[in-house]
Amino acid sequence: PVRTRFAPSPTGFLHMGSLRTALYNYLLAKNTGGEFLLRLEDTDQKRLVPGAEQSLYDALKWCKITYDEGPGTNEVYGPYRQSDRTKIYQKYINILLDTGHAYRCFCPKERLDSLRESAQKLQPPTTVSYDRQCLGLPEREVEVNLKSGVPFTVRFKSPDRYPPFEDLLHGKLDMQPQVNSMDVRYDDPILMKSDNLPTYHFANVVDDHLMKITHVIRGEEWLPSTPKHIALYEAFGWNSPHYVHIPLLTTTNDKKLSKRKGDADVRAMRANGILPEALINFSALFGWAPPRDLASAKHECFNLDELVQLFDLNNLTKGNAKVDDKKLYYFNKHYLAQRLENEDQFEELLETAYGFMKERYSSLDKEHLRKVLSTVGTYLTTIYDIDSTFNYLFKDPAYENENATKFLDSHDTHDIAKVLSFMEGKVDESNILDLIKAAEVELCVPKKLIFECVRFALAGSIPGVKLPVLVNILTPAESNRRILKALT
Ligand code: GLU
Repeated sequence: PVRTRFAPSPTGFLHMGSLRTALYNYLLAKNTGGEFLLRLEDTDQKRLVPGAEQSLYDALKWCKITYDEGPGTNEVYGPYRQSDRTKIYQKYINILLDTGHAYRCFCPKERLDSLRESAQKLQPPTTVSYDRQCLGLPEREVEVNLKSGVPFTVRFKSPDRYPPFEDLLHGKLDMQPQVNSMDVRYDDPILMKSDNLPTYHFANVVDDHLMKITHVIRGEEWLPSTPKHIALYEAFGWNSPHYVHIPLLTTTNDKKLSKRKGDADVRAMRANGILPEALINFSALFGWAPPRDLASAKHECFNLDELVQLFDLNNLTKGNAKVDDKKLYYFNKHYLAQRLENEDQFEELLETAYGFMKERYSSLDKEHLRKVLSTVGTYLTTIYDIDSTFNYLFKDPAYENENATKFLDSHDTHDIAKVLSFMEGKVDESNILDLIKAAEVELCVPKKLIFECVRFALAGSIPGVKLPVLVNILTPAESNRRILKALT
C-alpha cells in the first residue's frame, strides 16, 4: 500500500506551508487506501521550541488530519520521535562505516572553519569544502583517537557524481553540488554529529526506509537534499521512495512566506476566526487543482472528504503558488454559512461569539445574539467580525459615522424629521414596508428618502440588512425608540 508521512521538526508553530505538505501526504494516502503517519524530526535539539510539538498535534487535530501511526499512536515501526531512535541510527551508521560508505572525521572545528572560508573565497564560491583529510586515516590512528575521546563526526563518502533521480512532478533531475573544478573538495555530508545524534539527511533516509514510506511529498526547499538521500539509499542497497517536491508558497507580492514572521501561522489563523474547513480548502488549491469539469461544477469549495476522493498526483501544478488572503476569506464565509446551518455547530459558534461579545456588552442577552447570528450570520466573514460588522445591533448606532454624516449632509433636516415623526411609534416588522408606502403618499417625499431615513435611525445608515429583518432583530419597541432618538 501507499505509505506517506509528515515529518515536521518541532522548531516553530505549524505554518500554512507545512500544513499543505501534511495535507497532500494525507490525501495521497487516503485516496489510495494507504497509510499516513506522523514522525517528529527532533534531532536538532538546539532548534527545538517548547510547545511546538503540542501545537502540531493540536493543529492537525483541528484540521481533522488524522494519522494512522505516530508518536504514541500505533507505533508499528516506532518509536516515531527521532530523539528516541538513537540506537537505531547507531546500528545503521555502523553498517555504513563497515562497508566503507562512511568514515569518521576527527578534524577540529577550526580546521573545518578555515576550509569553509577558503572555499567561499574561490571563484565561483562553493559550500563544498571538505578535503577528505580523514578519509584514509590508518586504523591505528582511528583507534587511538577513539580511545582518547577525540570528538568526531561521521561523514558520508559521497559518490563522484550523485545519481540522477525521478521526481513525480518535475521529471528526471540531475543535481550536483556546486563544486569548483580548480580545487578538489568533496560534499561528504555529515551523517552523525559529534553528540552522536544523526543529521536530518541520515535520520530521514533510515526512517523512511524502516517505516516503509513509499511516497515523499515535501517542499521544493528539500530538492537539493534529495541527491544525497538517493545516494544514501544506494549505499545501503535499499530502494528509495518516490519523491514529489511541491512549489513553495509565496505571498501575492512574491515574497516567500516565512515562518519567523509568523505569517500564515495556523494557530494565529485559528485565533482570528479562520475555520479549519476554509484553511484546508484554501491550502489544497496551492499546488493542486481539481479536474476541470468538477472544478466548475462545484466552484472551488471542497471539504476534506471530497479532497480525499479527488486528489491525484497528476493534478499537481508547478510554479510557485501565490497566497492571496481574499480567497481564504471567501472560503471562510462559505464554511461559516455552512456551520450556521448545522444545529450543533451553530450552538458552538454562538458560545464562541457570546464569550467575546459579553466582554464588550456586559448586559448582552444570549437570545438576542442567537437571533442576530441566525438571521444575518451569513454576512460575516469570520465569527469575530460580528462586532465590527453589526455593532449597531448591540448598541445605539453611531450617528456620526461616515455613512450617516453623508446622509445628513445631503438631505434637508425638515424632510428627515417629517419622515421620522410619521414613522415614530408605529413601526413593527410586518408593517414597515406598508408604512413606508403610506408615508410616500401622505408626505409627498420620495420613497428612497424614506428608506434612507429609517436606515439612518435604526442602523446609522449602515447598509446590508433588510429593514423588516432589522426591525425584527431590534424588536419594534427598540426600533421605535431609535426613531424617536434620531428625531431629537
Ligand atoms: N524535518 C523536515 C522538515 O522539517 C522534513 C523534510 C522531509 O519531508 O524530508 O520539513
